[in-house]
Amino acid sequence: MKSIALLGGTGSIGDSTLDVIAQHPERFRLRSISGYRNIAKLIEICKRFRPDRVVVANEQSAKLIRDALAGADFTGINCGERAEILWGADGLDAIAADAVVDVVVAAIVGAAGLSSALAAARAGKIIALANKEALVMSGSLLSELCLRHGARLLPIDSEHNAVFQCLPFAATARQGQEGLASLASSDRFGVESITLTASGGPFRTWTYEQMKKATVREAVKHPNWSMGQKISVDSASLMNKGLELIEAQRLFNVSPDKLQVLIHPQSIVHALVQYRDGSVIAQLGAPDMRTPIAQVLGWIDGPAHRIGSGVQALDLSRIARLDFELPDLERFPALGLAIDAMRTGGNAPCVLNAANEVAVAGFLANRCRFTDIAACVAVVLHKMANSAAPDSLEAVLQTDAQARSLADEAMASLRSRYA
Ligand code: NAD
Ligand code: MG
Repeated sequence: MKSIALLGGTGSIGDSTLDVIAQHPERFRLRSISGYRNIAKLIEICKRFRPDRVVVANEQSAKLIRDALAGADFTGINCGERAEILWGADGLDAIAADAVVDVVVAAIVGAAGLSSALAAARAGKIIALANKEALVMSGSLLSELCLRHGARLLPIDSEHNAVFQCLPFAATARQGQEGLASLASSDRFGVESITLTASGGPFRTWTYEQMKKATVREAVKHPNWSMGQKISVDSASLMNKGLELIEAQRLFNVSPDKLQVLIHPQSIVHALVQYRDGSVIAQLGAPDMRTPIAQVLGWIDGPAHRIGSGVQALDLSRIARLDFELPDLERFPALGLAIDAMRTGGNAPCVLNAANEVAVAGFLANRCRFTDIAACVAVVLHKMANSAAPDSLEAVLQTDAQARSLADEAMASLRSRYA
């Protein structure tokens, strides 16, 4: 029986993870979960999965949930007592580092998930990573902590999980983070290139002029995946694919020139690894996050272990065709900015991520146009990106804060220009 800490359990990845856990009650139990705003949903999850520990945003929410669970005759599945209710960043760090936990599913969105991901790394956990922003902003910090403390980062992000599956078994089966950290870069395995696919998002066929007028509703209506709002907007701008290139660079320790993006509207092929001899190994599957989540949760019992996910078998005769095209960096400048940031290295990925988070929040609040997101990120990168990498958590947080403040300024000036 493996114990799971689910950080960001009320979101879209949370839903998929709980679905997989529920299919294997003899294999997994939910030791702890965190939510943020959606307390009603968190209460429902607690009643069904009976975690021992629950984390919410603040003391007020903690009281709400304690009262709700007190009336529900609820006891934790493991402790047999009322669940312990924690709150804030300390609470998240505590459930991530919990000695009882085997796997930490890091599914908080954005920089808010960094501290708990680092806590899980320090505690030597298996980290099932969905929260790509944490890896992008932290430079080499998260990977180094994993190496030092014997933690293991396993990608849930579908493209990275696909790459993981396409890489040689001899490399991925190795113990500890060094397995992933050295495999693709080492000549031994003959990896020539890694390609991440992108659906192209809801604006794949739109002109730039059309995108200027795009509404929030149009931006979050992803053609193939059902996801949280932030990543849906990132998918529409292709910033998501840019963040994913940096995520792949960090996870697999590959140089930027070995990483590529292909637009693939059907979202069936998730990634491809090309080898020296001309072989290309790809991973295919329906666009359903339960597949990569089940792959990771199965893997922890042994590298070749597979468990059911509830996802229907892929029927290629029904899908009939798979299309591929190169991304258009003119219409989707966010991807170009991310590629530049990846090549610059240093503080650039952290700056890119912070400015993007501010700009996406601005767009979701109807405070700017869709095309202003990339414009804002470009301004902030121009002002502060350089090749000196933040070398400590304090330096990362300082870079993040400075980029956010410059992004706020950039957003204000964009607003006044178009008001
Ligand atoms: P979501 O918005 O549906 O859920 C986000 C979760 O984070 C929620 O549980 C929310 O309570 C929590 N959260 C939000 N702000 C918080 C804060 N300040 N402090 C603590 N908790 C907070 O998002 P999602 O789609 O589930 O995505 C989660 C992460 O997984 C993102 O980093 C995303 O890029 C990544 N991801 C998602 C998908 C997908 O299909 N949804 C695929 C690949 C990667
Ligand atoms: Mg992805």
